[in-house]
Amino acid sequence: MNDLQLDDFKTDENAAMVLLVDDQAMIGEAVRRGLSHEENIDFHFCADPHQAIAQAIRIKPTVILQDLVMPGLDGLSLVREYRNHPATKDIPIIVLSTKEDPLIKSAAFAAGANDYLVKLPDNIELVARIRYHSRSYMTLLQRDAAYRALRVSQQQLLDTNLVLQRLMNSDGLTGLSNRRHFDEYLELEWRRSVRDQTQLSLLMIDVDYFKSYNDSFGHLEGDEALRKVALAIRDASSRPSDLPARYGGEEFALVLPNTSPGGARLVAEKLRQTVAALKIPHIAPAEGSSLTISIGLSTITPEHGSDCRQLILAADKGLYQAKHNGRNQVGIS
Ligand code: GH3
Ligand code: MG
Ligand code: MG
Repeated sequence: MNDLQLDDFKTDENAAMVLLVDDQAMIGEAVRRGLSHEENIDFHFCADPHQAIAQAIRIKPTVILQDLVMPGLDGLSLVREYRNHPATKDIPIIVLSTKEDPLIKSAAFAAGANDYLVKLPDNIELVARIRYHSRSYMTLLQRDAAYRALRVSQQQLLDTNLVLQRLMNSDGLTGLSNRRHFDEYLELEWRRSVRDQTQLSLLMIDVDYFKSYNDSFGHLEGDEALRKVALAIRDASSRPSDLPARYGGEEFALVLPNTSPGGARLVAEKLRQTVAALKIPHIAPAEGSSLTISIGLSTITPEHGSDCRQLILAADKGLYQAKHNGRNQVGIS
């Protein structure tokens, strides 16, 4: 909630700010005297109807007393003007008429007046009506402020939820999707592929000789290397539906929905080359080597009633082959 809205809440709902617009100074003086002993009622008098709107905007009355007959400007037109101006459109208006006339009365209400008094009204009645209209206007303002504050806090809640959702789904070290999100996403895409009978591809990616990388350079350097590999995997996923994830430890996964074995192989091979081209120095398999990855790849058009673990097992098998055949390669199963 910002300060302005807080201020709105704090405003004393019993306080009234009266603006009387009347060309006759005598009326102004009489009303001023009538209200002078009233607690919490501030009084402003405007004798020039052409200044009425500007003055109302400046002093922010909680009720306007409006004379109907003034030289040069018709009081009813002024009532319409208040109603058309965003700053004054909701301020209660009590029109002061010289006589009790049903025609004038109905015209006044049609123009947007809230009340009608014949002047000079009895002071007790005038004060009662001022307090009544003023309080209902304050209630309106408070309600509007409360709604505004509610909307702001609802939006903040939505924003926070989005941030939380993102945090819940992402891996702290690499910023890729975490295992939890990977599991959810693969399950979802698996079911979509069952429905649409499309090919779903999965790459399982494992860093080669990573234990000895940690042993030689330390865990912090190890983490840094994982971040670089993760970045390469993120860059390799070009479609919005591709999902790069950290599967666990130094193992990553890349879900490629609606992707053929040929397409997935291209992605995998390019990714393997990208990581090799980073030329991250390593001492395994031999002194002067660079860090590499092995990739297992599988593509399945899943059958009804099948389980997505089938795809993980198959990609794992490909990864095992890649390791077995010498690492730094793509194994297809
Ligand atoms: P291979 O080529 O057969 O994959 O050999 P490897 O040494 O990479 O395989 P292994 O699974 O034996 O070792 C994985 C290592 O990855 C173990 C651990 O030290 C390291 N590791 C796992 N998670 C993290 C991590 O978050 N940060 C760092 N720095 N190292 C990690
Ligand atoms: Mg490894
Ligand atoms: Mg491993």
